[in-house]
Amino acid sequence: MGANTDTKRLLHFHEGNAEMKMLLGGKGANLAEMTNAGLPVPPGFTVTTDACREFYASGRVVPPDLNQEIRTALKRVELSKNQKFGGLQDPLLVSVRSGSVTSMPGMMDTILNLGLNDETVEALARNTGNPRFAFDCYRRLIQMFGNVVFDIEGVYFERQLHRKKEELSIQFDKDLPVEALQQLIDQFKSIIELRTKREFPQDVFEQLELAVEAVFRSWNNQRAIVYRKVFDIPEQQGTAINIQAMVFGNQGDDCGTGVLFTRNPSTGEKMLYGEYLTNAQGEDVVAGVRTPLPIAQLEQEMPLVFNKLAQTAARLEAHYKDMQDIEFTVEKGELFILQTRNGKRTAQAAVKLAVHLAKENILSREEALQRIEVEHLNQLLHRAIDESVKLDVLATGLPASPGAATGQAVFDADTAEEWGRAGKRVVLVSSETSPEDIHGVIAAEGVLTSRGGMTSHAAVVARGMGKPCVCGCDEVRIDAEEKLFLAGDITVREGDWITLDGSTGRVISGVVELKEPEVSEELRELLQWADGVRKLKVLTNADTPEDAVKAREFGAEGIGLCRTEHMFMSAERLPVVQAMILADTLEERKAALEQLLPMQQGDFEGLFTAMNGLPVTIRLLDPPLHEFLPKLEDLLVRQEQLKHRKTDLQEQSKLDSLIRKVRGLQEMNPMLGQRGCRLGIVFPEIYEMQAIAIFRAVQACKKRGITVLPEIMIPLVGHANELKLMRELVDRAANEVLGVEIDQPAYKVGTMIEVPRAALTAAQIVKYADFFSFGTNDLTQMTLGYSRDDAEGKFLTHYVDQGILPKNPFQVIDTDGVGVLIDWAVKQGRAHNPQLKTSICGEHGGDKESIFFCHQTGLDCVSCSPFRVPLARIAAAQAQILLGSHVHPHVELERSVSSL
Ligand code: ADP
Ligand code: MG
Ligand code: MG
Repeated sequence: MGANTDTKRLLHFHEGNAEMKMLLGGKGANLAEMTNAGLPVPPGFTVTTDACREFYASGRVVPPDLNQEIRTALKRVELSKNQKFGGLQDPLLVSVRSGSVTSMPGMMDTILNLGLNDETVEALARNTGNPRFAFDCYRRLIQMFGNVVFDIEGVYFERQLHRKKEELSIQFDKDLPVEALQQLIDQFKSIIELRTKREFPQDVFEQLELAVEAVFRSWNNQRAIVYRKVFDIPEQQGTAINIQAMVFGNQGDDCGTGVLFTRNPSTGEKMLYGEYLTNAQGEDVVAGVRTPLPIAQLEQEMPLVFNKLAQTAARLEAHYKDMQDIEFTVEKGELFILQTRNGKRTAQAAVKLAVHLAKENILSREEALQRIEVEHLNQLLHRAIDESVKLDVLATGLPASPGAATGQAVFDADTAEEWGRAGKRVVLVSSETSPEDIHGVIAAEGVLTSRGGMTSHAAVVARGMGKPCVCGCDEVRIDAEEKLFLAGDITVREGDWITLDGSTGRVISGVVELKEPEVSEELRELLQWADGVRKLKVLTNADTPEDAVKAREFGAEGIGLCRTEHMFMSAERLPVVQAMILADTLEERKAALEQLLPMQQGDFEGLFTAMNGLPVTIRLLDPPLHEFLPKLEDLLVRQEQLKHRKTDLQEQSKLDSLIRKVRGLQEMNPMLGQRGCRLGIVFPEIYEMQAIAIFRAVQACKKRGITVLPEIMIPLVGHANELKLMRELVDRAANEVLGVEIDQPAYKVGTMIEVPRAALTAAQIVKYADFFSFGTNDLTQMTLGYSRDDAEGKFLTHYVDQGILPKNPFQVIDTDGVGVLIDWAVKQGRAHNPQLKTSICGEHGGDKESIFFCHQTGLDCVSCSPFRVPLARIAAAQAQILLGSHVHPHVELERSVSSL
């Protein structure tokens, strides 16, 4: 690709604005916006993502005319600073900063203090009268340059730095004297020569050109690639580069640098929140070189600067209508803003912020609802530490990302990844995390660091991913080599279990009981707004009264699926269930069913009571019967053992007959075998018992003044005749128990649509159905011809990685296949019965994209697990806000879902 007229390679800050993120990257677009708003931003310009794409299109070559354009642009910066790049009188120094379109904190590289060499450093020392400062900048430049441009690992430099400080008994970098810095500069230069056989370039333009190339290259470094994959960031976005005049926070004690959030990113509370360091430069704050001070302290130390900063923060927040994450530097008492972006936040903060911004009239309620990343809410609805339990607290650090996590301690990212892959739950423990550790953070349940503040890399990344994190916990002494940490006199080794409480900063020994989450006041309010907007009803999948109560608290409007088989599994009932299955005669079977009936009735009474006034959909028994019997292999082992003992003859013959029964029930492919309504047709007495239990429970509850709206769901229907037969069975039971009440529509009968034939013949099936509930787990298995366990265990990841399938169809509904069946069945069903109630009850009911699909297909309800009910309520509102209530024909629908 040549330089055609559409490509823009370079823009000065005053030529851009916040809308131009795709071209200028997030950082560049916001620097431009702030420049034009008159904020104190050091002058500079942005090399665009177009130029980056050009770089890659031409085989990683910087277009030669780009360097020329950069030189020309630099002249303007020189003019406005009245300095000269490489000049011996008053040298201009610049930073070269990467800036991608989607924020990827810490993933790519930045170099500060470019323009220093053996000569200009002397000029800088002379002009500022501060040689310590000048040589400190030079030392930093060589270090960053070696690291970013020459790919030399940071430790080589750090080691020398560390040694020098030990030699002089100095704790902090800032206390190194000039001579020491000069020696370090020589040592750093030798490191570069030794490792690359090249010299640190003295030509400042060469520095600049190499730096630009390196930042382009950093778009494809390993950690950036991993991050892009996790967050679905397209590779062709590319990165922009910002070249900007330096300002210095490391010139003395009237200088400093810091990071500021306009609200607390952990709780959402309205307050200035951040950290700073006096006499420091750029990355010192996030890198954990010294422990930074809380921003409130700046008010005492530099009140004028603090006031200006507070004003600027308020202005930026109002301008962007969102919480801002701001980088600032103070140079000799003067404030400069170096970056602003929408701040990463916890789910708790996101909710509070959205509600507050709406109440402050900065956002409309609908905008506030759209601000919620529904998947993120999961974090809020997760469990926390149960405070009534006695805790063995090892140490307390900073509460950097809320929620509780339990796992086995590991001390490096690779082990975290490896153990995570092996299915272990791990907590990553590290003195500090760097962007290279991202794969470890992804694999871990939570992160513990001994250094770094609330804005350190670990904290930012963990908050973004919704993982609990405790930072800066200097009470724990970590020995990564020995794979252990000490807390007081306790030693925790690799593999030991620990629990983190990211909400309070506590590090706790062992596994801790976690308690159920509660809905905050703000979330309750937001959910009410969502309820006012959405068209889809949200039901829940619940098998027990406890689940039902929880779901109701979360706002479920009924039970969309109660799976009765779970009621058969308890230790007390299983023997009766087995007796029922193993019965030789109908009488025997009926006797066992007699015993089960009151138990089932009790179950249903519990559910009806919990859901008083709301519909409860009960699915009759679904799985193949052998699932309730012991495993054949186990029985055979037992048989082998008994053979050698002549005494247990009676037991032997009992076992033999059990084995015969189990063998008889075995199936080649149970998923497609005798299950669902097939079971009810072959053994009608089982479904009869369940139906009678339901209606007796209805009767008993009504007597207690409870309003019951029972819906009986027949699973796995594929032919209208199946449903006809089962409906007759249910109606008979209703008649028997409720007598005359059958005239009134006291109950509904419907079917789960999970066999493709049922969807195709919906027009026939609907004659016997009051509702359709799409069982999208089985419907997906049968439509794609995948058994879920085999697919997810074997080939599905390949399919998704290779782009054969866009997503895992068990997580996000396959709109092109399964979706067409649902759409068809709904249309056919409604055409014959306009009152037909439609819903989905597979796991998709709690997935945002699938909920959008349900909205567009015009379903009445989605049903999901209790913990996902709040998420579904908000997603349903978002669907209405974004898509309106018009039901789209299927073809259009797919396009709008994928463009979300
Ligand atoms: P990141 O994306 O990793 O935050 P940045 O490009 O924002 O990288 O820069 C890293 C650090 O250097 C930040 O603290 C930033 O404020 C600081 N910095 C960048 N450019 C300048 C500059 N021109 N003057 C002073 N500090 C700068
Ligand atoms: Mg930054
Ligand atoms: Mg099913």
